[in-house]
Amino acid sequence: MPDLALQAPFSEIRHSPATQNLCGIKQGFRTFVHLFEYMIYPIVALGNPVLKERAKEIDLRMPELPALIEDMFETMYQASGVGLAAPQIGKGIRLFVIDAEPMDEENLKGAKMVFINPLKIEENGTPWPYEEGCLSIPGIREEVKRPEKITLEYLDEKGEKHKKTFEGMLARVVQHEYDHLEGKLFIEYLSPFRKKLIQNKLNDILKGKAKADYPIRFALQTKR
Ligand SMILES: [Zn+2]
Repeated sequence: MPDLALQAPFSEIRHSPATQNLCGIKQGFRTFVHLFEYMIYPIVALGNPVLKERAKEIDLRMPELPALIEDMFETMYQASGVGLAAPQIGKGIRLFVIDAEPMDEENLKGAKMVFINPLKIEENGTPWPYEEGCLSIPGIREEVKRPEKITLEYLDEKGEKHKKTFEGMLARVVQHEYDHLEGKLFIEYLSPFRKKLIQNKLNDILKGKAKADYPIRFALQTKR
């Protein structure tokens, strides 16, 4: 049973802005118009316990997995992100998607990928700094040092197993998203001094006083 097979390659199911407006309206008919509509999830913000937990392995027979993957891509594009991990939409499962092509770096061409049940094999190379941001921590960008390379074992959206080493900016995106599955956020790498400097902003996010230009669910915001 091709449980993980998508009905069509991602490149064929990208849609025009007009169809995007249908999101969430006709969910009941999803099975029939599956290729033409998506659900945009709100991003869960810092303070939500799901972001602090180690995400659980996915049962590959999960029937809603192909649709969830598509929805995660759409949610990520809507928020102008280059990576999105399932805990960021409130799902504590080992799944993340990336599409780092908008970052316009040579080694990122064709960098649209799905990682199911990834496992870190090793990280190595000289740590280098880069200013990171996170959709779950809006308005904060801070420099984080990470090793140059990361090697992961994972399944793709077709259920095929890979063992791959990522380098440079692509490694950076993968490392950030992988951390989400381990319940770790990039601000945990900051020095106590840097963290103190942004503490007020973090408190605002915790209290739901921050702003984001995409749908976001703050920890203290009551569920709508
Ligand atoms: Zn993040």
